[in-house]
Amino acid sequence: MTGFFETKIEYLKGVGPQKGALLNKELDIFTFGEMLQHYPFRYEDRTKFYKIREIKPELQQVQVIGRIISVQVIGEGRKKRLVAQFADETGIMELTWFKGIQWVNKKLVKGVALVAFGKPQLFGSRFSMAHPELEPLTGKQDKGPYFQPVYHTTEKLRAKFLDSRGISRILAGLLPLAFSKIPETLPSRLCESMQLVSKQVAIQEIHFPSSPGNLRKASYRLKFEEFFFLQLRLLKLKLARTEKFRGKVLGQTQLLTQFYKEHLPFELTGAQKRVIKEIYADLKSGLQMNRLIQGDVGSGKTIVAFICLLVAVDSGYQTCLMAPTEILANQHYEGLKPFTEQMGLKIALLTGSSTKKQREAIHKELASGTLHLLIGTHALLEDVVVFQQLGLAIIDEQHRFGVAQRAKLWAKNKDFYPHVLVMTATPIPRTLAMTLYGDLDISVIDELPAGRKAIQTVHRYDKDRLKVFGFLKKEIAKGRQVYIVYPLIEESLKSDLKSLMDGYESICRAFNGLPIGILHGNMKAADKDFEMARFVKGETKIMVATTVIEVGVNVPNASVMVIENAERFGLSQLHQLRGRVGRGSDQSYCILMSKYELGKDSRTRLETMVRTNNGFEIADVDLRLRGPGDLSGTQQSGIMDLKLADLGRDGGILVQARAAAKAILEADPGLIQPENRPIADQVSRLRKNELNWSRIS
Ligand code: ADP
Ligand code: MG
Repeated sequence: MTGFFETKIEYLKGVGPQKGALLNKELDIFTFGEMLQHYPFRYEDRTKFYKIREIKPELQQVQVIGRIISVQVIGEGRKKRLVAQFADETGIMELTWFKGIQWVNKKLVKGVALVAFGKPQLFGSRFSMAHPELEPLTGKQDKGPYFQPVYHTTEKLRAKFLDSRGISRILAGLLPLAFSKIPETLPSRLCESMQLVSKQVAIQEIHFPSSPGNLRKASYRLKFEEFFFLQLRLLKLKLARTEKFRGKVLGQTQLLTQFYKEHLPFELTGAQKRVIKEIYADLKSGLQMNRLIQGDVGSGKTIVAFICLLVAVDSGYQTCLMAPTEILANQHYEGLKPFTEQMGLKIALLTGSSTKKQREAIHKELASGTLHLLIGTHALLEDVVVFQQLGLAIIDEQHRFGVAQRAKLWAKNKDFYPHVLVMTATPIPRTLAMTLYGDLDISVIDELPAGRKAIQTVHRYDKDRLKVFGFLKKEIAKGRQVYIVYPLIEESLKSDLKSLMDGYESICRAFNGLPIGILHGNMKAADKDFEMARFVKGETKIMVATTVIEVGVNVPNASVMVIENAERFGLSQLHQLRGRVGRGSDQSYCILMSKYELGKDSRTRLETMVRTNNGFEIADVDLRLRGPGDLSGTQQSGIMDLKLADLGRDGGILVQARAAAKAILEADPGLIQPENRPIADQVSRLRKNELNWSRIS
């Protein structure tokens, strides 16, 4: 049986097989239900009319009442265009058409009052509007409030008259049939306490807003619902897991106390202590731990990991630490080896370059239980790597591994799951973490070890370059070293390489006689190593480079980072680059160079960098500017199901929806109470939809 909402869209009056097939193909709309969920992505404010004199270049779209005073065809061939002079009592603007010139020309009538709507652009001293919407002034237009919904559509659909207005017409036919059948998906008590409008009203108002206030309420209700069901799913997963998987109780602390007393090389920060406590509580709880540690670069995650390993080893279990690259695995191994030796623990390193002999030895010691801590790359995941009993598995830089790899570590023991701790230095805003890792518990190390001086960041324009060079000379005279970074991207490789080389030459001239190195991705590996080694040894004072220095370089004496064309970098990249300095005890600086004219987003990025060193704050702004689309792992987590809600802008709604979902699940884990019936029904509808999808794709 198919219900109303599963009815094929082609059966709707006014659609038919041809348009129906096009809607399937172009917009993935197959059913009445999917059509109703094709929400407008913005609204045009048709409540305001501008006078021509009031128009400003930053206005996205304006609506003007005026009359055409003259019409002219200008230019030849591809530059040919139709230009109409359009005037009101305050001035004159131009309306232009590049296509359909003859057809439009026939329809333009001089002297009658018209409403023109479109995006104004300033050419010289006069505004122009290309391909405006034009209609006769009727009494209706200024009877606001009147929001025009704008829908996503495609060229092919437009050709069949399914432009934004065409889609709106379809919905105008569908909504009256559907309205009373739209089921309420949230309990009435929740709707009351959160002041949510009903689902029916929300759907009606999102497509045909009756006032700005009602539109806001509709949008809030639908976003809340999207977040609510996403969070509900994640929280249920978590609940199911903690119920199903009992964890081994790891509570021994003798080794840890010994380490604290005798070997701890520094005082832990408050944040480190707090996170260790959170983990310790998990380890001895009897439930299996799945926890994420977030901490900016240099916040000291490694020592936290090590301390937790000690608890596991002390309780009689083996442990492992997995890193995404050999370099990182090596670093961990070299860094932790002195500690394990002091404590009389056995540690080993397993990577792709381990020899057969080394591997065999490791396999043996793992099986017998004599090896306490195995560090390595994803070589750890291979089936031949068998532990006697793995108590705690730690993954460094989680974002480079997938969910599947995490699951493989889970399955390392035959009869129980190890505790799992994942660590990431990619600051993820809280709202996104709640969604990406909604099934994990989260700990945050939000404090850097004492004694580090905050990097001072400034923004300078290209015209200030001489002053900047003067500053660099002073720092170099004090014995410091400097990075100067240029953007280099695939799309503009040639011109970027040229500006890098030009920059290098002018720097050589400006700092004549000073040893200067250069580093970019197009160089041979041996040359790169050579240049890098010279800089590390302090033989070169300035390193002119591209973003290749982003990863893995550690030169504590380098205390100044200059970033050229800083407006072309993304925020998180700027933050990563800046993290290359500030590693020693000297005051470090980051100088962002840019041209004078900047777009709004570029300016926000640079201002954010100057304002804060906090990776989380930066990630928040980044998310707001870019949206979550290109952050890793978004696909697997259901974010793609979000139609209206936006993780960047709607974080506040997410937090409320998660709290509501949590409260309801805590009181009624099986969703069997009558008042939660609407939720249970919607969950099964969503599940059914998902099944349909997996069959199709
Ligand atoms: P990350 O969080 O980026 O992995 P690391 O664990 O590599 O950071 O730590 C960065 C540096 O800070 C290391 O040299 C480490 O020894 C040092 N460190 C860590 N915690 C402290 C602390 N509480 N006080 C001083 N130095 C610390
Ligand atoms: Mg680290």
